[in-house]
Amino acid sequence: MESQTKPRILCVDDDRVTLRAIERSLLTSGYMVITADSGNRALQTLQSVKPDLILLDAMMPGLDGYEVCSRLRQNPEFNSIPVIFVTSLEQKEDKAKAFALGAADYITKPIQKETLLNKVASHLETHARWKELDQDEGPAKQVDLQPSAEVAHRSAGLLRSDFPQFRLFLSKQAALPPGKQDRILALNPKDLYSLASELGVSDEQIAKWVAEFLQLPYLQNVGAEKVALGVLPPPFCKTNLVLPLTDEQKRTFVLSNPFNWELLRLLKKYESPTNLLHLCITEPRNILAFFKGGVQGTQQTTAAPVAISDIEKKLRERYQPAEDTSSTVLDGSTEESEPLIVLVNQLIENAYSMGASDIHIEPWENEILVRYRVDGVLRIVNRFTPRTLIRPLVARIKIMSDLDISERRLPQDGRIIFKKYTSRGFDFDLRVATAPMNHGEKVVMRILDKQKAVMPLTNLGFSTRNLTLYRDKIETPYGMILHVGPTGSGKSMTLYAALNEVQTPEVNIQTCEDPIEYTLAGINQMQIHREIGLTFQRALRSYLRQDPDIILVGEIRDKETAEIAIEAALTGHLLLSTLHTNDAPSTVTRFIEMGIEPFMVSSSLVLICAQRLLRRLCKECKEEYAPNSDERQLIGVDYDTEVTLHRAKGCSACNGTGYKGRVGIHEILVPDDAMRKAINQHGITSEALKRMAIETTDMTTLYWDAMEKARQGITSVEEALANVRRDEFDSRPRWMFEELGLRSRQYEKSAA
Ligand SMILES: [Zn+2]
Repeated sequence: MESQTKPRILCVDDDRVTLRAIERSLLTSGYMVITADSGNRALQTLQSVKPDLILLDAMMPGLDGYEVCSRLRQNPEFNSIPVIFVTSLEQKEDKAKAFALGAADYITKPIQKETLLNKVASHLETHARWKELDQDEGPAKQVDLQPSAEVAHRSAGLLRSDFPQFRLFLSKQAALPPGKQDRILALNPKDLYSLASELGVSDEQIAKWVAEFLQLPYLQNVGAEKVALGVLPPPFCKTNLVLPLTDEQKRTFVLSNPFNWELLRLLKKYESPTNLLHLCITEPRNILAFFKGGVQGTQQTTAAPVAISDIEKKLRERYQPAEDTSSTVLDGSTEESEPLIVLVNQLIENAYSMGASDIHIEPWENEILVRYRVDGVLRIVNRFTPRTLIRPLVARIKIMSDLDISERRLPQDGRIIFKKYTSRGFDFDLRVATAPMNHGEKVVMRILDKQKAVMPLTNLGFSTRNLTLYRDKIETPYGMILHVGPTGSGKSMTLYAALNEVQTPEVNIQTCEDPIEYTLAGINQMQIHREIGLTFQRALRSYLRQDPDIILVGEIRDKETAEIAIEAALTGHLLLSTLHTNDAPSTVTRFIEMGIEPFMVSSSLVLICAQRLLRRLCKECKEEYAPNSDERQLIGVDYDTEVTLHRAKGCSACNGTGYKGRVGIHEILVPDDAMRKAINQHGITSEALKRMAIETTDMTTLYWDAMEKARQGITSVEEALANVRRDEFDSRPRWMFEELGLRSRQYEKSAA
């Protein structure tokens, strides 16, 4: 140390013997030593003394070392003081935990004098050097430095002019959605990663593009063991997303954004003629993981995910764009073509990670489009060329789903048990459907996540009133409860939530499903196999002989199934099922149209719940606004009532869409005696039933439940209107006026 005053070291340990030993070693080496025998004492001492380095015992009664360190890190005055943990635990997790808190290093007990002195000296040097570097950044020198800074970047392989070039490179990426070119060309270096969500690509992809463009290595993961300690202060690393790596020959840093000129200029100062500066690229997440307790380090396996663009490049080389469709090589089924396997796995894993429900792989005239359905909305995630890739791609998926590869003219259905193909611990199935289109075969895969948790009924968006109604009826010992709505309206989710509520060891619950979407403990589930004759009808018949209390039939779509279902409901079983009708009243007429006697329907029916899923507004970015008169009328609020609505904006938390997650809207019809009588009269229309349900049972229609959710700011009016339309029978239920203290129905009628 060159400094005139002796460096001051604060030593904190509850064990006096250790404390004395450390003190002695440091004193004899010329340091000034301050001691504290507890975490609290240490914090008190810091109010009067500012040490140059802190040695901190990790395990202490009361305020332990981790807690002391995290408090120091929150204080700007002590933020940059290097902290070395002294610990008797030599676990990887402890090291990770220490670094997560911003520690510079750690020493394990029993303490070796030499190690102690070496580490202390080394960190003091880093700290001093760092302070020097930091002061270098004064504005006076800024002008001077400009030209030499350019030189510095050049030797690190980077120039300021590289960034515009990079933007051009980015705008030419095949996988980018159209219309994003302008956004890319206006990009600022610091906004590099905020672009990811706008483009619908991952941060990983951005990092890979940066690496590819600058011809720098990309690091998939930064293991804690690779990080060099005591080179840069941890808080600086965290803020600037950079980590020094251990590397014999070079001065190596891994960073996320090499277009951060200030950072580069600083790193450049670590270079010497013998130690050349060397950069690697990774996405911010991988650097931050190091500070989050290094969870990453222990879980990383050899099978790390691969960027899709890399695989695509490999495939492009293999499948030249020559329109030579006769070639059998194009089939890809004859050989185990590695990149293709990786590509398909990656497409599926990415979709799963994004929370997608479906994957669409579509051949177009000049390219292949991959779209994911997330929160009910499809979006483009990849574009591939050449288009001829579709054949091997579909062939691979067909192999995985046990389908006939040679049959390309007829639609086929199959299933992929994904855990057979992935080494990354995913366990879910995919339902696969292929269909011949004019440009080739299209594949749609539905992700069936059997492990996904069944949500409690209370989380599904039921209004208080509807929840009470529903819960009351689900306890009924027998009868029929139906959930209706189009595919993807959350019917099975609700049914399972309901089953979960009524499930006890005393009841026997049997289900027959196609496919089994959720696996529930304590419930007997059967998968339908039409090809061998195991239909809903047949399963139901066998169930009646298995003494069930509650039966769930996946779907009622024909007269035969409907008849047995009603028979079961009338003979002491609670029967749950789904139908593809649009609203609750038309479900009754659908049964009658199928040829079921009206009195059979009216006597078995307990409840019909029609439902849809609306996108929830993102809580992080939803925007308040005052509705105009049209919107007031839509949500049914008169002119004197003050009301604030919310609309979608978009932020990084919601991938720029303004929505995150979904919420159910419900229309619950519980027939009363008058309605049963009406159903028994032949020829009742669904419109008449709807009017009756609203007037006599105060039913909330889908429209009004959606508008209530918009009024409450759970969703937007726009999203509500995209899913429900108001018809002439959609009058507002009475309870809504009473409960919300709104004006009478008269207003409603005069406004409409
Ligand atoms: Zn948002």
